[in-house]
Amino acid sequence: LSSKLKDPSLAPDKALVGGQWLAASESGKTFEVTNPANGDVIAVLPDLGKVEVSKAIDAAHAVQKAWAKKTAKERATILRKLFDLMVANADDLATILTIEMGKPWAEARGEVLYGASYVEWFGEEAKRVYGDTIPGHQADKRIIVIRQPVGVVGAITPWNFPNAMLARKMAPALAAGCTMVSKPAAQTPLSALALALLAERAGVPAGVFSVVTSTQSAMIGQEMCSNEKIRKVTFTGSTNVGKILMRQGADQIMKLGLELGGNAPFIVFDDADVDAAVEGAMISKYRNNGQTCVCANRIYVQSGVYDTFAAKLAERVSKMKVGDGMAEGVNAGPLIDQNALKKVEEHISDAVSKGAKVAVGGNRDAQGGLFYQPTILTGVTSEMMVAREETFGPVAPLFKFDTEEQVIEMANDTEFGLASYFYSKDVAKIFRVAEQLEYGMVGINTGLISTEVAPFGGIKQSGLGREGSKYGLEDYTELKYLCLGGI
Ligand code: ADP
Repeated sequence: LSSKLKDPSLAPDKALVGGQWLAASESGKTFEVTNPANGDVIAVLPDLGKVEVSKAIDAAHAVQKAWAKKTAKERATILRKLFDLMVANADDLATILTIEMGKPWAEARGEVLYGASYVEWFGEEAKRVYGDTIPGHQADKRIIVIRQPVGVVGAITPWNFPNAMLARKMAPALAAGCTMVSKPAAQTPLSALALALLAERAGVPAGVFSVVTSTQSAMIGQEMCSNEKIRKVTFTGSTNVGKILMRQGADQIMKLGLELGGNAPFIVFDDADVDAAVEGAMISKYRNNGQTCVCANRIYVQSGVYDTFAAKLAERVSKMKVGDGMAEGVNAGPLIDQNALKKVEEHISDAVSKGAKVAVGGNRDAQGGLFYQPTILTGVTSEMMVAREETFGPVAPLFKFDTEEQVIEMANDTEFGLASYFYSKDVAKIFRVAEQLEYGMVGINTGLISTEVAPFGGIKQSGLGREGSKYGLEDYTELKYLCLGGI
């Protein structure tokens, strides 16, 4: 891997535990990181356990007060330096990301800049953690509300955005004056280590940010939830693991930030600009090979434009190039692992057995490995697995609907509530539909909603809290009210 980098030091084979870089040779157990495009082993890292995570938590706890005591401007200056370093090293960070995760290099570079945008934004916002003054309830009283950092934060992140999912947790945490112990997904720890290295170079003090590499995620989660020095656990991943963390955190009323699964509806009304809707569907469905929690999972098309939309989408999808993300012109990389591949196959065969038709794709790609053909299914109905579960792969199931009421009911018929999308040019309908969709985010005439300036997050079983925007910073602070008497 390091031979492909301009700065080979960005791929350390060590974890950062409480300010100390720990080599695989010092840790006893190790694990391998592989490239999903070809199965090559790209790194051997320390497989850390309870001892090391506790050590990282102790260090984060020991330095938290001093970090919080710095002025917001001092913390902002360091975050700004980190942002500059991420941008300056974006090519290398993208290469690391593609090789450990599989997404096309241009998309990986986009993710790095997206991750960096949170670091920039929250550094700026650090200076705007405002409080309130409230008119006193008695003549001799004054009331002041201040915001303080929650303290030490534990972060657990997934493999689908190895850079951005961590950056958008560590940036608001550090901006607010919290310290963080993170555990990246074992499939993709290298982007997290590169981020830690750049953070160190930017001047983040020792112990403020740790990256604990481990395959023992359940044990690490347990320790984060039960260690009394941790005040908040922030997690992005599956709803099942989110529930486990919530149960484990109950004993100490753990503050939780949870970004969990979605089952995003993507609705195309008869009055939509169909070409724009096709463009939006391409981005929303096939970005990251369908492996994002905001990916369109169910595409509902009104009967008047169903055939046109399906034909235009098919034309675009059949031109997609599948392959190693490092190769020129590739826009669909491998899936992350065998389980992901099996889930895609299971969803497709279930749909086909219940009457759906494969319009494009529908098979493993000829190059073998973890590659799957970008796929479109038509004639999909709500009895099929694709209607209920997140596919997390390159499969677009097209459902047909007739009325606005019907599609809203179908769209909301899920325990998830993360992202939703719809296309229409009718202003009154836009407000009606947007207000009725039971989702934390609604993309209207767009398939791309993620930005550091807006609150990303879900309702129902899709999560708790928001990431990005001023609301995202608030989630790393506690309110304290001061009541001054005797005036
Ligand atoms: P995915 O399907 O994206 O792998 P997971 O929820 O399994 O979703 O994984 C997201 C993150 O949660 C990863 O870092 C993974 O290692 C971690 N994880 C998995 N199981 C647990 C658990 N029981 N407790 C804490 N973290 C876990």
